[in-house]
Amino acid sequence: MGLTVVPAPLQRGFLFLNAHPAGCARNVQRMVAQAKKAGPGSGLGTVLVIGSSSGYGLASLVSAIFGHGAKAMSVCFERPAEKERTASAGWYNLAEVHRLAASEGRQVATINGDAFSTTIKQQTMAMLKERFGKVDCLVYSIASPRRTDPTTGHTFASVLKPIDAPYISKSVNLETDQVIAANVLPASEAEIQATTKVMGGEDWAYWVEALRHAGLLATGFRTVAYSYIGPRSTHPIYRAGTIGRAKDHLETTAHRLDYHLKATLGGGAWVSVNKALITQAASAIPVVPLYISLLYRVMKTHGSHEDTCEQIIRLFRDHLGPGKAPVLDEQGRIRLDDRELEPQIQVEVARLFEQVDTANLTTISDYAAFKREFRQLFGFEVDGVDYSQPVEVDVLLA
Ligand code: NAD
Repeated sequence: MGLTVVPAPLQRGFLFLNAHPAGCARNVQRMVAQAKKAGPGSGLGTVLVIGSSSGYGLASLVSAIFGHGAKAMSVCFERPAEKERTASAGWYNLAEVHRLAASEGRQVATINGDAFSTTIKQQTMAMLKERFGKVDCLVYSIASPRRTDPTTGHTFASVLKPIDAPYISKSVNLETDQVIAANVLPASEAEIQATTKVMGGEDWAYWVEALRHAGLLATGFRTVAYSYIGPRSTHPIYRAGTIGRAKDHLETTAHRLDYHLKATLGGGAWVSVNKALITQAASAIPVVPLYISLLYRVMKTHGSHEDTCEQIIRLFRDHLGPGKAPVLDEQGRIRLDDRELEPQIQVEVARLFEQVDTANLTTISDYAAFKREFRQLFGFEVDGVDYSQPVEVDVLLA
């Protein structure tokens, strides 16, 4: 029995420096129940998920294992517990995935480390050979602020900035809950290049190459990476900004990979454009938390809101599952953001965006729910957890 403590939220600004293991476990249990209910229970073979411990990657892992009976190998970059300091939320999320999988005789293995590095790719290939064999599906879902190029050793930092002109828009300060005017200055050429290095498709292609080199690509191998487009109002900071350039690179990479995979294995590679959802990565983007708070309110009212798990359930069910041919837009992308971008939804969100200020923030938007859902990502304020009870913080990830 390890050390038990009563973890209280430890915050720096709006960010959490710790996590609650029981709350994270609950979140995962809910996702597993969703995946089991929706999935056919079998059919996906062996899946490799890069960026598997939170957000869209975690939903992909859970859906694959528990909804489609996949054997799964996962890679993430999380912090273990150290003395009384808890592990990161992603660590506890995956620990629960492992615990539930083991209790049901399902196979999952995780490597924790920098997925951008050659060492972690080699370790992953070795473990795949030892435990799983060829991979049928690779999900690439990394969101990272920096990447060290394995060939040069140079570290690149991504930025969330517009290109050419400053971006001035309403935003919400997540520390003070005030609606403010965000004024973000344009990126330099070097910042655009660096963001593309971190969040573009280069590393995704390296993973496919590592699998090919190791003889681990199954016939019909499929791979997907995630992207976002969003409404016109956020284009200057997102789709037409530095991160958008990286996503353009991701799409170009998908076309290149798709061409080769089709020709050699009868497989394919696609970008899936997903809905805006509350994740650690999304909350760091200026304006996006305010937009999401309004979007959630409108989509919930219309009954079209989906969470990460529901989005990924739809991805496998309609596009990537066995026997499915992905339905693509004219640029060759899978679109899971169709409901978000419906004109009726966007007109209403734009109208509320015009009106929103500090005084009406919590009444006309889902901001309070946004904040709560954000705390829940770290395992705090999750229904059904008794936060007065001590819990073991040093949980094994195996
Ligand atoms: P997230 O912050 O919830 O998860 C990021 C994952 O990446 C974690 O598992 C983390 O451990 C892993 N990771 C980060 N650096 C790593 C490294 N060096 N090595 C190994 N693993 C590493 O992020 P998210 O919001 O789920 O984003 C995942 C992808 O989905 C991104 O490409 C993002 O652009 C895209 N996306 C997100 C949204 C959204 O609204 N959240 C919408 C559409 C698309």
